[in-house]
Amino acid sequence: KRNAKINPKVLVASILKKDTTALSRAITLVESKNADHLDIANSIIKQCLPYANKSIRIGITGVPGVGKSTFIEIFGKHLTNAGKRVAVLAIDPSSSLTKGSILGDKTRMEELVKDDNAYIRPSASGKSLGGVARKTRESIILCEAAGFDVIIIETVGVGQSETTVHSMVDFFLLLKLAGAGDELQGIKRGIIEMADAIAINKADGDNLKRAKLAKVEFNRALHLYPTKDSNWQPKVTLCSALQNEGIDAIWNIVQEYIDTTTQNNYFNNKRKEQNKFWLIQTIEEQLKSDFFNRPDIKKELATQLHLIENDKTTPFAAAYYLLNLVH
Ligand code: GDP
Repeated sequence: KRNAKINPKVLVASILKKDTTALSRAITLVESKNADHLDIANSIIKQCLPYANKSIRIGITGVPGVGKSTFIEIFGKHLTNAGKRVAVLAIDPSSSLTKGSILGDKTRMEELVKDDNAYIRPSASGKSLGGVARKTRESIILCEAAGFDVIIIETVGVGQSETTVHSMVDFFLLLKLAGAGDELQGIKRGIIEMADAIAINKADGDNLKRAKLAKVEFNRALHLYPTKDSNWQPKVTLCSALQNEGIDAIWNIVQEYIDTTTQNNYFNNKRKEQNKFWLIQTIEEQLKSDFFNRPDIKKELATQLHLIENDKTTPFAAAYYLLNLVH
């Protein structure tokens, strides 16, 4: 069997030597659904843990077309030019075998792909965003062990994904476009509340005036929210990824945030809270999948669903009947 050749120790040694081929292999193992791979992946992660926790983790989200890949490319180049090593983990909630991918496109981030100090890894999430998110968290650890200083988690803004990404990063950057009532939608969904900074992209050419107005709007909206636990007042800024304008200012904001939250200890506390959250999350997910994959449950669930359809039982009675089968 090919898998038998995988030696976790050797792979970890290569990862620690910043070998990105080894890193990719490890991430593939982490993402694998094969049960044999799970043990190997866990062993690799465990060995990498002492070398983790050393990067700045930045979540970047925005609707398709807002300019995420253009932005990350230029932002990433800015960082590698400053001597940093940058990993980009892109979670694509839309992609599946049939639907194709928004983020997996090979032409994205052409320059960054060629950069020796950058690493880009797209992950298709298929139907389970929660599952892929857990794997992304483990991939973060692997990237940190491979010596990346900045880890960017990119996701398409489609609702649930923002919350998931928010729970695994230090800094959450929301990319927005000016106009079209888009601002208010964001406020409704509470996404703006999660943002540590909002960058209004495509603030160039004819769009600049509208972008400036949007900045005023967002600033006004942000002031309606109570001060965050981080004591950080979210910033609104303009940028043009295409023209490389305002990109350095965004990196300065990130650094300012890190300074502020390191000083008031929020930075470390947040990571600890995130770890606790993911412990519970992982257990919940595992219990759920164990439960629904039991043959007896599968069979009895079908029966109970049928009874419900015929008004022969109540949802609660059916649920407790099924839950009691495993106790
Ligand atoms: P994504 O779907 O969010 O990754 O967006 P892309 O990065 O693929 O960008 C979508 C389109 O917007 C592309 O045609 C980009 O060239 C364009 N674009 C991205 N950033 C800017 C910008 O700052 N200004 C202008 N004018 N166009 C931009």
